[in-house]
Amino acid sequence: TQYVYRFGGGVSEGGSGDKNLLGGKGANLAEMSSIGLPVPPGFTISTEMCTRYYEEGQAFPDELREQVAAGIAHVEQITGKGFGDAADPLLVSVRSGARVSMPGMMDTVLNLGLNDETVKGLADTSGDPRFAWDSYRRFIQMYCDVVLGLDHDAFEEALEIAKEDKGIYLDTEMESEDWQKLVGEYMRLAEAELGHPFPQDPQDQLWGAVGAVFGSWQAERAKVYRRINDIPGDWGTAVNVQAMVFGNMGETSATGVAFTRDPATGERAYYGEWLINAQGEDVVAGIRTPQYLTTAARQRAGAKPAAMEEAMPETFVELAKVFDLLENHYRDMQDIEFTVERGKLWMLQTRSGKRAAKAALKIAVDMAGEGLITEEEAVLRVDPGALDQLLHPTLDPEAERDVIARGLPASPGAASGVVVFDADTAEHRAAMGDDVILVRVETSPEDIHGMHAAKGILTARGGMTSHAAVVARGMGRPCVSGTGSVAIDAKAKMFTAMDREIGEGDMITIDGATGEVMVGEVATIQPELAGDFGQLMVWADKSRRMRVRTNAETPADCRTAREFGAEGIGLCRTEHMFFDAARITAVRQMILAENEAGRRTALGKLLPEQRQDFTEIFTIMAGLPVTIRLLDPPLHEFLPHGEDELQEVADAVDVSIDTLRRRVSELHEFNPMLGHRGCRLGVTYPEIYEMQARAIFEAALDVAEKSGEAPIPEIMVPLVATRRELELMKAVIDRTADAVFEEKGARVDFLVGTMIELPRAALRAGEIAEQAEFFSFGTNDLTQTALGVSRDDAGRFLGTYVDQGIYPRDPFVTLDVEGVGELIALAAERGRATKPNVKLGICGEHGGDPASIAFCEQVALDYVSASPYRVPIARLAAAQAAL
Ligand code: ADP
Ligand code: MG
Ligand code: MG
Repeated sequence: TQYVYRFGGGVSEGGSGDKNLLGGKGANLAEMSSIGLPVPPGFTISTEMCTRYYEEGQAFPDELREQVAAGIAHVEQITGKGFGDAADPLLVSVRSGARVSMPGMMDTVLNLGLNDETVKGLADTSGDPRFAWDSYRRFIQMYCDVVLGLDHDAFEEALEIAKEDKGIYLDTEMESEDWQKLVGEYMRLAEAELGHPFPQDPQDQLWGAVGAVFGSWQAERAKVYRRINDIPGDWGTAVNVQAMVFGNMGETSATGVAFTRDPATGERAYYGEWLINAQGEDVVAGIRTPQYLTTAARQRAGAKPAAMEEAMPETFVELAKVFDLLENHYRDMQDIEFTVERGKLWMLQTRSGKRAAKAALKIAVDMAGEGLITEEEAVLRVDPGALDQLLHPTLDPEAERDVIARGLPASPGAASGVVVFDADTAEHRAAMGDDVILVRVETSPEDIHGMHAAKGILTARGGMTSHAAVVARGMGRPCVSGTGSVAIDAKAKMFTAMDREIGEGDMITIDGATGEVMVGEVATIQPELAGDFGQLMVWADKSRRMRVRTNAETPADCRTAREFGAEGIGLCRTEHMFFDAARITAVRQMILAENEAGRRTALGKLLPEQRQDFTEIFTIMAGLPVTIRLLDPPLHEFLPHGEDELQEVADAVDVSIDTLRRRVSELHEFNPMLGHRGCRLGVTYPEIYEMQARAIFEAALDVAEKSGEAPIPEIMVPLVATRRELELMKAVIDRTADAVFEEKGARVDFLVGTMIELPRAALRAGEIAEQAEFFSFGTNDLTQTALGVSRDDAGRFLGTYVDQGIYPRDPFVTLDVEGVGELIALAAERGRATKPNVKLGICGEHGGDPASIAFCEQVALDYVSASPYRVPIARLAAAQAAL
């Protein structure tokens, strides 16, 4: 089997289509090399090898050793250097690369191949001993950290002491002899920790590093990242071994990272950071503050010269050409790593750049406008889930802002919350319901869970491409980074800015669009829905087949949903309307009544209230279908549960406290989810559904008359298991319709249908369809009843279930396609066999979940229904599902 794939020097044994095999980094290195870009030669060990490595108890087969030797020979031949050659040593980097990029998850070792002998060769051939010793100390430190697992603090400390002794602040002021001395110190440190000398043989170094890359795939932080991002654990990582190029060879050398468009705003302008005389991670590590790439960006930030455009104009022009070439080649915004070695440009990485939701939207719309991609591709480019960020409020520009610091606008959006200083506290307080802002000097991969739990992230160090910035943008969390004026004392749990002290638990607001940090909570405003968002939605609506409705029952929600493009209501619950303080007494009188006559009297009081509810909703939704679910919850939910409330209620309803207590205990249920609810209420007390149906018809007639546009009520009977139940309820509704239409001398069109939320109903959908003009899949209850899992009690074990791979995701968030999905498919098929035009929709939480929406398209539902803020997400997801 071929495990090693070469690239560079005119050879390219792969391309960007080989991400599964070569990982993203390896596939794109091969691709760049094959289109003639300057890529240092190297080879990729495939992800298949990673899988085999774990299958075989973490051992390297001989086959691999032979292929790696051939790979090294390839690099030696192109560079003319020898791996381990004391006179002219080849140095390599060992880099990980999974199928999808996992920022900061996997570790890279640079300058591998250096030892006490080759360092001298490097000094001679480069003519720069300082550079050689700097590279060597970097290598030892990295190798000890990444491969040997030693604590890097000791190494940092040794460097600090060396600088202090010399009376300097900057690494760049260290001289050759200083680095050489430090190397000696590092060697002693390493040997003391390891119990044996630091490995001098480059072959040992190489295999150690390869093993460490494979090992990092199973590191805790990588697992956490995979869990948050739904990345399967069996993909494995590739390893890239590549000839080093050096950005730390003096003032004509540099290293940098860049995006071909601004990843925060989407603006069509190169965006990047670079450092002269630096290597690899220096730019993102936040140790030295990087410089801007372009003059425009530097001026806008009010920073001092020099941008790369000014300091290395020729190389910059060359680099800009590469940016354009890569963007045209990949037809997407690219995230690029480059190094300049003594004036010569080298490309080290390219990939589709992560971007904030706002940027994703703008880039997709712009690129379609530029003709680089089609409108359909633009629709497919934007992650529906990420739209969430854009639909939520941003800071009100008119509101007072008590600004205490300004950092870099690293990830857009505004967030208010209480300050915490570590990831565990962030997670803990978020679990207790607090909005938290995680404040760190800089973040590291160990902070991922805290960043996920936080509403926003503020860091004192690090640029726009720092760990915090990249991860925050990926997660959709607002982030302000590199806020140098914030002095954090993590031990004392406080920070100071402009002489103000902010402690743990104090409320602050960050604005990821401007970089502002403010004390207290700042008012917000609704987002702008026109512009790029509106354009993308127009394209999405052209491609979509399914209709998108909303789950809403208040006028405010109905209005929001219409603004977001809802094409009707898929679920209007009626029970919330009964909880209103003014009405609950009548509801309780109805429940406590001894007989039908008593119930009818109480229901008579509720009728005008209920009619008013529907009139408002029908007015907002005029001309659109409105699905109203008749009363669903068990009646005891409306009765008081605490002793102290009992007397008050008894007085209000005018019954004795004993009667009330008796009724409460009579109505008590052991398992209310499966108790006296849904159509079971309608079967035992038909007058309740009769009142609701009357309210619906009277309101519909009223609105039709006033507005001239009749609403289309779709009356939905909940929790049906059998045909007969629906038959009985439909008879009540039809009878009421006839009566109302007769009284008013006018009629409206309406439909009667049912929720399919019990497995029996799904199975018997064929005969239920005889009585139903529509089915709405109530996937919350259908999931509960199909899986036998109570949603309210699942928290204790569902996490473990997902971790153990029992369910791929939380089945209450993303539809369990295999089980619940099969019931839906079956019900759709059987229902349509009886009644080909039976209308089918979904109204559970899943109606706003993109993966579940894709399934709905597969079974050809007529519509999905989502909560108001998820309506645009559903519109986009429905379009993507149809494309
Ligand atoms: P990550 O996935 O964390 O970005 P990389 O493998 O890309 O890790 O490497 C980390 C840093 O090291 C990057 O800045 C990259 O440009 C630099 N680097 C990697 N390989 C080389 C090399 N052969 N020569 C010079 N710099 C390198
Ligand atoms: Mg890294
Ligand atoms: Mg990289």
